[in-house]
Amino acid sequence: MELIMAKIDLSNISHTYNPKDVKPTYALNPFSMTWENGNRYAILGPSGCGKTTMLNIVSGLVRPSEGKILFDDKDVTDLKTENRNISQVFQFPVIYNTMTVYDNLAFPLKCRNFTKEKIEERVQSVSQTLNLSSFLNIPARKLTADQKQLISLGRGLVREDVAAVLMDEPLTVIDPDLKFRLRRSLKEINEQYKTTLVYVTHDQNEAMTFADNIIVMDQGEIVQVGLPKDLFEKPKTTFVGYFIGSPAMNLFSSEVFSNNSIKFNNLEINTRTDLSKIKNKKVKLGIRSEFIKIANEQKDNVVNVKVSRVEDFGNFKLITGKIGDFEIKSKVERETPISSENLKLYLPADKCCIYSEDKLVQ
Ligand code: ADP
Ligand code: MG
Repeated sequence: MELIMAKIDLSNISHTYNPKDVKPTYALNPFSMTWENGNRYAILGPSGCGKTTMLNIVSGLVRPSEGKILFDDKDVTDLKTENRNISQVFQFPVIYNTMTVYDNLAFPLKCRNFTKEKIEERVQSVSQTLNLSSFLNIPARKLTADQKQLISLGRGLVREDVAAVLMDEPLTVIDPDLKFRLRRSLKEINEQYKTTLVYVTHDQNEAMTFADNIIVMDQGEIVQVGLPKDLFEKPKTTFVGYFIGSPAMNLFSSEVFSNNSIKFNNLEINTRTDLSKIKNKKVKLGIRSEFIKIANEQKDNVVNVKVSRVEDFGNFKLITGKIGDFEIKSKVERETPISSENLKLYLPADKCCIYSEDKLVQ
């Protein structure tokens, strides 16, 4: 059976690997999400947060403890992997060492009785994309670890008739240059064939350069789904602020001071957030180092900073300083002269995010 589908719905899914325990631990807490056909998604989060579990639920290798998987509104929760019309690239390459590279790539097509001509066309096309053309007649065991990873990726991409390709950290041992090229190729494949691509990674740069839709996970929770811009400008939790961006978002333990200002280190900082409804007055102020500017005069939202370090990254300078016991980081243009160890920094009110119980106050 082949499924032609438009979208993938994960409906009230949750998963525990120890359902019989008195207190089962959940690898995935209940969530719902839709993957639209033809989009590129990245699932981003630290090791152990549940990324692989989520992919395996979609491909059918793991049956979710609760909830349903729908392919184009059709319930496939109990459908076997073979019947889901999905190809999956695993984190650790699965290849047949004694077969040639050609036969490894052709295998998913041979299993489905594609014609010799079609197989030839697809293997040639994929091997060119992946720089494997000159190795086609060599047994796979003779290839290096990174080439083996490419074969594994190639096997995931060789079928054109799949509804989605799920890739679990597929490029971990590939060198950065080739990695960059491959992500571009993947984008082209996505644009050409309109295949839904889902790319799992713990690397924010990979996620940002690959996908339009980034699903950020933390400890079995989906904490934010959005464009790179959303994750950067309005992280929904302090975890996202910390995990996305380099350096991490500045976070200062503060107290609500008025309906739209907070205090930290005895400094009042204005925000554009309505703080009147917050019960717990202890909040965090979050601001990206990119939004903090050097100020020449004392005015609202200007703080005095004792500079502890200035690093030149070529295209920008990173200032690290202290406000009392708080550390603050500011990214400034590299031409900016920093002559004194006492600096005034301006924290624009509209760039100040307020977190209550580590969640963004909207
Ligand atoms: P990630 O891919 O983000 O590193 P995983 O989905 O592999 O995370 O794991 C999520 C959680 O589930 C982790 O705590 C992990 O230890 C646990 N886990 C994963 N696979 C199994 C398994 N087969 N049996 C028991 N626990 C597992
Ligand atoms: Mg994993």
